[in-house]
Formats: sequence, C-alpha cells, structure tokens
Amino acid sequence: MSVETGPIHPAGPRDPLAGSRSPLPVEVVRRAPKALLHDHLDGGLRPATIVDLAATYGYDRLPTTDPVALGEWFVEAADSGSLERYLETFAHTVGVMQHRAALVRVAAECAEDLAADGCVYAEVRFAPELHVAEGLALDEVVEAVLEGFRVGEERAAAAGRPIVVRTLLTAMRTAARSREIAELTVRYRDAGVAGFDIAGAEAGFPPSRHLDAFNYLRGESCHFTIHAGEAFGLPSIHEAVAFCGCERLGHGVRIVDDIDLSPDGSASLGRLAAYVRDLRIPLELCPSSNVQTGAAASIADHPIRLLADLRFRVTVNTDNRLMSGTSMTREMLLLSEAFGWGLPQLQWLTVNALKSAFIPFDQRLALIDEVVKPAYAALMAEHPA
Ligand SMILES: [Zn+2]
Repeated sequence: MSVETGPIHPAGPRDPLAGSRSPLPVEVVRRAPKALLHDHLDGGLRPATIVDLAATYGYDRLPTTDPVALGEWFVEAADSGSLERYLETFAHTVGVMQHRAALVRVAAECAEDLAADGCVYAEVRFAPELHVAEGLALDEVVEAVLEGFRVGEERAAAAGRPIVVRTLLTAMRTAARSREIAELTVRYRDAGVAGFDIAGAEAGFPPSRHLDAFNYLRGESCHFTIHAGEAFGLPSIHEAVAFCGCERLGHGVRIVDDIDLSPDGSASLGRLAAYVRDLRIPLELCPSSNVQTGAAASIADHPIRLLADLRFRVTVNTDNRLMSGTSMTREMLLLSEAFGWGLPQLQWLTVNALKSAFIPFDQRLALIDEVVKPAYAALMAEHPA
C-alpha cells in the first residue's frame, strides 16, 4: 500500500526551499547560525591534539605524528572503502581519549571549533563505555566531557561566538551495556546530557535488541535517537520507530527506499515513509559521511533534496568532522552548490534542527526567535537572493 502525494515542485512559488541557484560565499555561510544534532566527539578531534595527547599518554600507534599528514590520513582512511581502515581511525581517536584531562580538552576544543564554525547549538554524542580502558569509571568519563563542554562554551562566548552544547550518551549496539548507559543518561540529564543514542554496525544488530533500555528511557520521559537506516535499510528504521519509539533517526537516509517516484515527478510514499513524515520524525542526515560510506553516490545524488522537497523534517549534520574533513559550513556549502540552496534554505534547515533538539521547548524557541531568525534576516538584507 502507498499513500499518494501531489507532484513535487522543487522550485515552486510556495516552496520554502525555492531560492537562488548561486552558491553562497563561504564567509556568509560561516556567519549564518547553524544547529547540529549529529556529531561524534571521537570523530571531531583536531589532528594536532591527537598528536599531543598521544605523546602525553604514550600512545604509539599513530600512522604519523605530523598533524597535517595525520589529518589527511584520517580522510583517506575513511574514504578508502575498507571497513578495517575506517575502524582504525576511531581506534586512534578513542585511544588518546582515555584520561580525564584528555576528555576535558577534546570536549572544550570541540565546542570552540563548532562555535567558530557558526554553530549556535550542538548536540555532540559519544560512547562512555569506549573511554574506560585506563580505569576511568563511566561517571568520571561523563563528568570530564561535560566539564570540557562548559569550558569550551565559556571560551566561545568570550570570543564573541556563543554556543550551547549538550551531549548525547551513545550505547554500542554490538555490546550489552545499553541499559547501563540509559541509566547514566537519566542520572546526568540535568547536568548537560540531553538524551541517549545507539550506534554501531546495523546489520545483525537490530535496535530491538536494546528494548530494555528504550522502555526504561520512555518510562523516565527521556529523549533518545537511534542510528538506523544508514547502511542498512528499511527494517532497521521500522524497528527504531515502531518498536523502540525513537524521537529522531540517526541518518534515516534509507527511508527513500519506501518512496516511489513516477516519471511525471510525483512521489508515492509507503506506509513507513508516510508515518515518519506525518509524525515529523527528524532525519539526522549527514551528506558527506553518507557519500564516504556509500549510502549516497555523491552530494548531488543525495536523497536530501528529495526528502526536503517532500517536506520531511530534514536536518543537516557533520557526523565525523575529522574523518570527513568537514564542518557545518562545508556541508551547507556543498548543498548550496549542488542544489542552489541559499540563505532561506539554510535557515529552514537550521530551524528544523532546533525544533528537533532535545532541549526544553522554551529554550528551542528562544534560539529560533532571538538568535537564528534575526541573524538570517540581517544576512538576507546584506545578500539578497
Ligand atoms: Zn553517527
């Protein structure tokens, strides 16, 4: 069964995504406020920091200690199509994040880097269970990261680029600690932890394996998102939405497999795609990351355009800035170049993200009304389409 929708009008007069086809200047995109929902702490370290931390803590497995070459190595390894090399990238970043001071530094720099990139709000996720190899307790890991974000927020504000950073605690879907991480999330919910996430290999590890954690979180009225529908298809999304009750989909890009396009441009949504759209379930799309993992052939071929045209709750994210050599500014520029999206489209994406954030409603509205909209109005006055 499918639900018929009207024809798609990618640039129709009532289309909020209609706009100039000319790419925006990079400085304008950097200054434009952006909101980020899907960014991994262990996927966004500065290469020079990795080199420093490796020296401090005696980590001797880096492929090179030259920061520039190391940064290039990360992108190449993630680009290689080899799962082994891709996983090796995270072995190095996680390898230097096993001590309290290292976690504080990495989190502080993350907040500073996102603020310098024009993000006004970010939810950065990490898996506490991956940072206990040198003896830290889960609570100590969380407290170190939260302290780092507070330090980074203060530095960013002092530099005139205020940012609000919250964190999501990720459980690994291949492990069996999800209930414990869910309880950790609830314990720190008033201290900067905004929600819970589950990540890791999808095939063979359906989210319903972790129902105990999701039921507990729902009982506690706690927010959570699930990595689903990235490499693996609709069954993973179906489980995440129907059985686990996730509020957002990490990636969720394979929802396009439930959409049929006719030669006349009309789209027909299957039951699941219609349900995801009806409920306004946010899709945490990560264009460059999807191209690297093969979920999309190129940015121009990325389903984000179709999903935006069909008015899904689309958001744009970085996933792993270090491995993808990217930033929110770069992701927005790539979309601007591929689809001609201008400032109205960037504002739409940013408001979508803030509407979908795991902070209280009044705080979301304040960011939208007092920060995002005035800044875009000023930028649009300076740079009319
Ligand atoms: Zn991710």
